Amino acid sequence: MQLNHTHDPATRSWLPSATDTDFPIQNLPLAVFRRSGSDESFRGGVAIGDQVLDLAALSGTACLQGLAAQAAGACAQAVLNGFLALGPAAWQALRHALFGLLQSSAPGTSVAAVRACLLPQDAVEYAVPMAIGDYTDFYTSIHHARNVGRIARPDAPPLTPNFQWLPIAYHGRASSIVVSGQRFRRPMGQFMPAGASTPVYGPCARLDYELELGICIGQGNALGEPIALAQAESHIFGLCLLNDWSARDIQFWEMAPLGPFLGKNFATSVSPWLVSLEALAPFRLPFERPADEPQPLAYLESAGNRAQGVLDVRLEVLLQTARQRSKGQPGTRVSHTSFRHQYWTLAQMVTQHTVGGCNLQPGDLLGTGTISGPQPQEAGAMVELTKGGREPLTLTHADGVTEQRAFLQDGDAVILRGWCEAPGRVRIGFGECRGEVLPALGA
Ligand code: CA
Repeated sequence: MQLNHTHDPATRSWLPSATDTDFPIQNLPLAVFRRSGSDESFRGGVAIGDQVLDLAALSGTACLQGLAAQAAGACAQAVLNGFLALGPAAWQALRHALFGLLQSSAPGTSVAAVRACLLPQDAVEYAVPMAIGDYTDFYTSIHHARNVGRIARPDAPPLTPNFQWLPIAYHGRASSIVVSGQRFRRPMGQFMPAGASTPVYGPCARLDYELELGICIGQGNALGEPIALAQAESHIFGLCLLNDWSARDIQFWEMAPLGPFLGKNFATSVSPWLVSLEALAPFRLPFERPADEPQPLAYLESAGNRAQGVLDVRLEVLLQTARQRSKGQPGTRVSHTSFRHQYWTLAQMVTQHTVGGCNLQPGDLLGTGTISGPQPQEAGAMVELTKGGREPLTLTHADGVTEQRAFLQDGDAVILRGWCEAPGRVRIGFGECRGEVLPALGA
């Protein structure tokens, strides 16, 4: 991914709110939205400052031509799959056209037309931005794998023998993926309490979150035709924040030998905004593998992946209890890390997924797996932060009151945030991914 004029840190938008924001003109992420509480159709929009640029409205003006107009027209639908299927040239045409319309040097006539297509973000509601045909969740943080391995299998080596050889994953559930802001019920299920010899059925007692990024697939591949590593990123439109809510007691009882099932399939939250790989281009780093660790097999190696396969996306998790919310207090930050610490790259995940011939389709979603950094405070799940619940977190509220959490309680909200920053670059953000726990049905 080459840098171009849309990454120029000197360019400003004519929209005043587009400075010191997650959504400057260098970002331009996509969502689907409608006016809050209305029965309008959902349609595609682009974030700029504190506004949404309505792409359905804009595509009805004379502001866009050619491939950019075709791309905006595809975004007028209630899901972005048609736009995603158009591929990188169309994605770039739209981004570059919008950049031209929103920059401070844009001509006055187009500024007036674009301004008429803006709505305040605080007056809209969002939906999951694409129809997700298939959802796959990877497991690509070596720090997370070691931390959880020690808890789940204390008598075995923390890493499974395959971890350093391939990006491992399981096929997840797409129907229960919800957009940020939605609440969900604590799941009921079967689990084996510590020290018991017979499992019980009841509300999950070890409810957790997982800090992840979601990878939105653009153009897919034909069944039987793998995606080579050098082409893998051209099949990714962009990234969102993803919370893979996890019922640890249910999960750890059920997952051997076939993997997660009911411990994961009750809810997965995603942020509304898809940040394009093009917007993320200034925040790349080389992929490195220490010499004393297994080097990737040839099909998971490419010069491009070695040179800039890693993305430095900064991430944080906030936990807001019901008490904090009732007092109007923000949540407490419980961890922060960067995606740069992940053991496998985006491209390696896409190639691994398709190497046997599996076909990806536009709008498919891949989770990166929990993102945990090397330090204890960089862990991306509570089960790691609390050592399996043995060392509860102390949450200190703004008024000095403290609460303790080994796992999530009813009424707790978890907020994920992500952003990129680098010297000489304009900071861009992902917005937030928020979800709230409701009591179990019948509880
Ligand atoms: Ca996960």
